[in-house]
Amino acid sequence: MTTLNPTLQPIFEEILARNPGEAEFHQATKELLESLDPVVRRHPEYTDAEIIRRICEPERQIIFRVPWVDDAGRVQLNRGFRVEFNSALGPYKGGLRFHPSVYLGIVKFLGFEQIFKNALTGMPIGGGKGGSDFDPKGRSDAEVMRFCQSFMTELYRHIGEYTDVPAGDIGVGGREIGYMFGQYKRITNRYESGVLTGKGIGWGGSLVRTEATGYGTVFFASEILKSRGTSFEGKTVVVSGSGNVAIYAAEKAAALGATVVACSDSSGYVVDQDGLDLDLLKEVKEVRRERISVYAEERGAPARFIAGGSVWDVPCDIALPCATQNELDGDAAATLVRNGCTVVAEGANMPCTPDAVRVLSQAGVAFAPGKAANAGGVATSALEMQQNASRDSWSFVHTEERLEEIMVGIHQRCLETAEEYGAPGNYVAGANIAGFIQVADAMLALGVI
Ligand code: NDP
Repeated sequence: MTTLNPTLQPIFEEILARNPGEAEFHQATKELLESLDPVVRRHPEYTDAEIIRRICEPERQIIFRVPWVDDAGRVQLNRGFRVEFNSALGPYKGGLRFHPSVYLGIVKFLGFEQIFKNALTGMPIGGGKGGSDFDPKGRSDAEVMRFCQSFMTELYRHIGEYTDVPAGDIGVGGREIGYMFGQYKRITNRYESGVLTGKGIGWGGSLVRTEATGYGTVFFASEILKSRGTSFEGKTVVVSGSGNVAIYAAEKAAALGATVVACSDSSGYVVDQDGLDLDLLKEVKEVRRERISVYAEERGAPARFIAGGSVWDVPCDIALPCATQNELDGDAAATLVRNGCTVVAEGANMPCTPDAVRVLSQAGVAFAPGKAANAGGVATSALEMQQNASRDSWSFVHTEERLEEIMVGIHQRCLETAEEYGAPGNYVAGANIAGFIQVADAMLALGVI
């Protein structure tokens, strides 16, 4: 275990002691603190005002009971979370995750990352995250609706367009946002479009929001490739996952001339050397909500499904991990390096373990951390909020251009900041430092609150 500098080490020890058992939160805070060494040397004012200790402590953590009735008439019980982490730059903003693995440590790691990601977008949004250990898989629409209504019956009192604006994440897409928005509207008797993002296009949603995280990740990777004098054209790409982020990352990579040869879900992965058939993938995963194996069955040879195993065994030039945290470990990174991969851009949040990041960096693979590379989703959520506030709706082309501009800007800012703080080409350092300084300066200006 690496030791941090003498200012930061006691802060990290305090985080460990005050947040026991929250491994993902420890991992995310440690990664940020590791980048801050040159910042605390240059800016003693942050240490004097205890900005780092304060930024690692959520402003508010809400945990609540979510009872609901299943189709058989049995009472089910889940736990709901919302961590309102930092509002120095704007209302708390971040998604809701419905997955059986959700507990406070995961919500806190995601909320913490969200603070800096949102700052990097340059938009006026703070950081938060929430969710539940509810598993939507295998549940009927009616069960999902009853769960969402019960979840919102508690959550509504904590959110609002000027307070806290949730969106989707794993297990929360347009269907779930619809049920939650409906319940919020009913309870409050307000058509407050700006309270949730990721809404349907017909009722306050923004074009490109569905595609934004995946497209944005590819725009970011494309900037990396440009800076190395190349492009997606003719490259082989592997994505992990086959959910919202993965599907649209694959779509944009293919549109830019790459062949996307593999994707996965938690049961295994599909290899399709001819390039994924994205219409079929969307039909299987988005419309029918089936397992990825069904894609291979219906696509036929040469596509095949491999149960279990690692999608990172499939050789590629560019890897886009788009499933979940810690899905790409040191061994998988070594395999990618051996197979000639040159760029890894995180569509998911923290999918690469610290070991993986080390292996990739040592091998000279360009590595883009999620808080920079997947910021397109939240940035487009902020564009949705803008459209809601002005009662306007923008065209697909205009919104996509805004998204691309934002991703190009984040890429530039990461590189410039990394250079300024003595870590040229290091996107992790650039993203962490640029995001941190923006929030820290706002916190300094707002006093000790
Ligand atoms: P979805 O629920 O749409 O899809 C998640 C995908 O990842 C599914 O294919 C799922 O497979 C797979 N997956 C989940 N857990 C595992 C696992 N343990 N092993 C292998 N595969 C797994 O979620 P999103 O696409 O929205 O989110 C994916 C990632 O992107 C998350 O890290 C999220 O935080 C991040 N993100 C999402 C944003 C968004 O706008 N949606 C914005 C920024 C980041 P299965 O169906 O089998 O569970």
